[in-house]
Amino acid sequence: MVDKLKVLFLASEVGPFAKTGGLADVAGALPGALRQLGADVRLVLPYYRLVREGNFQLRTVLKDLKIPLGSEKLPANVLEAQTEDGVPVYLIERDDLYDRPNLYGSAVGDYYDNLERFSFFAHAALILSDALLFSPDLIHCHDWQTGLVPALIKGPYGDTSTLAGTPTVFTVHNLGYQGLFPAGKLPVTGLLKDEFFHPEGLEFWGKISLLKAGIVYSEAITTVSPTYAREIQTSEYGLGMEGIFKHRRASLHGILNGVDYNLWDPAVDSHVTFNYSPRKMEGKRRCKESLIQEMGLDPSVIKKPLLGMISRLDNQKGFDLLVQMLDEILELDVGLIILGSGDELIQKAIQDAATRHQGRVGFEIGFDEPLAHHIMAGVDIFLIPSRYEPCGLTQMYALKYGAVPVVRATGGLDDTVVQFDPLTKEGNGFKFGPYKPAAFVAAIHQAVNLFQDSRTWKRLMANGMKADFSWDKSARRYLEIYRSVVYGNFQQVAQ
Ligand code: ADP
Repeated sequence: MVDKLKVLFLASEVGPFAKTGGLADVAGALPGALRQLGADVRLVLPYYRLVREGNFQLRTVLKDLKIPLGSEKLPANVLEAQTEDGVPVYLIERDDLYDRPNLYGSAVGDYYDNLERFSFFAHAALILSDALLFSPDLIHCHDWQTGLVPALIKGPYGDTSTLAGTPTVFTVHNLGYQGLFPAGKLPVTGLLKDEFFHPEGLEFWGKISLLKAGIVYSEAITTVSPTYAREIQTSEYGLGMEGIFKHRRASLHGILNGVDYNLWDPAVDSHVTFNYSPRKMEGKRRCKESLIQEMGLDPSVIKKPLLGMISRLDNQKGFDLLVQMLDEILELDVGLIILGSGDELIQKAIQDAATRHQGRVGFEIGFDEPLAHHIMAGVDIFLIPSRYEPCGLTQMYALKYGAVPVVRATGGLDDTVVQFDPLTKEGNGFKFGPYKPAAFVAAIHQAVNLFQDSRTWKRLMANGMKADFSWDKSARRYLEIYRSVVYGNFQQVAQ
């Protein structure tokens, strides 16, 4: 039986409208998968400059909605767009808050008024659903930018609003971003201090944490892989919130993200120069050739193992290990291509290595969706040495593109990559455990050695390309959790 559950789905980035990372991929695809299963899902997103400039079809559906911000009420318009799967997307238009070069901040730091920006977003999402007469059965919130919503439902919207009592599900995509703000700014949110600002509420060591608000006040919590759901209950990965997760473990679920294979499959990918599939692999070598050319590498790299990374340049992603070992890795006679933006020290270290190893290192700074696809299709080995990784999408994309992943065994990386066994020929990649430079290089070494044995390598690629992480299975798990919060049988789906 399929219920027509009505879901208000709130995220601060949604592909293809606005993207800085994996959250956009998830929020761009999961609502469509839920819709396929019969749910009526509506997305809400700020109307950023990136969306304005994106040439999407939009229409204004509400004008001059009055949204509370601290002691004021400020007007906002609401525009409507649609995802490719036909999911409505409501965009909150308020230019002084969202018409900016970036989503969250610039190279020098976060925008100073992010609490105002995302409090406004939270209130606007609730008020617009009322104004559109859309009474959701539940609200699904993602990451700190929407963490206020579960608290608002229990606070100012708890008595009079039509949303009073609406259950919320909160998904943690990355515990490293906790939405911390000075305690003195609480009035911005519209929440009362006595009711909410205490250790059992949204206070986190004297500060406001919007992430904690989401975790504490939602009916169910999910995170994006089973292993990360376990890890965040430990002091090593819990970043001070492990106690809260342990306390709420009966309502905490780890659901692996899916892959949108309409976008990430070399057989149909419109970005890649040559399409290919497990039965017709010639295109992979041609993609490698054209990537080598595009990145200005020496043509001799075609015979060497070509390593790739596409990532935020952040030490979470293991760049401190990579930077320490760049010369040793390049001594293995490989090519290396990196696409990323972020930390300037990391940028400089990679640029220096590119100068030292002319013709073998390609480094592109920036966010470049087409190039990300070219790299997936062109490289032989994909590196993700993350310190922690809630789910990670790029290893799943890499598997599909026959780019063998070398990953640290943590979070979703551990759940999706299976160590290759040369005896049984089972497995799809290489993993290392300790967060140590030597362990990382040893895993790369294994991959590079095996690359010389082209028959076994083909088998390894084929194992990876077979993997199926499509959204359907994960969307069904989300529906189970939705039903559990709507119909009240919380314990039944607890893991
Ligand atoms: P996270 O969300 O932690 O950044 P994920 O692996 O979950 O990491 O998702 C990253 C997403 O962002 C992937 O779709 C990846 O291809 C994309 N991405 C990351 N950096 C870049 C970049 N510089 N250019 C284009 N795409 C990028």
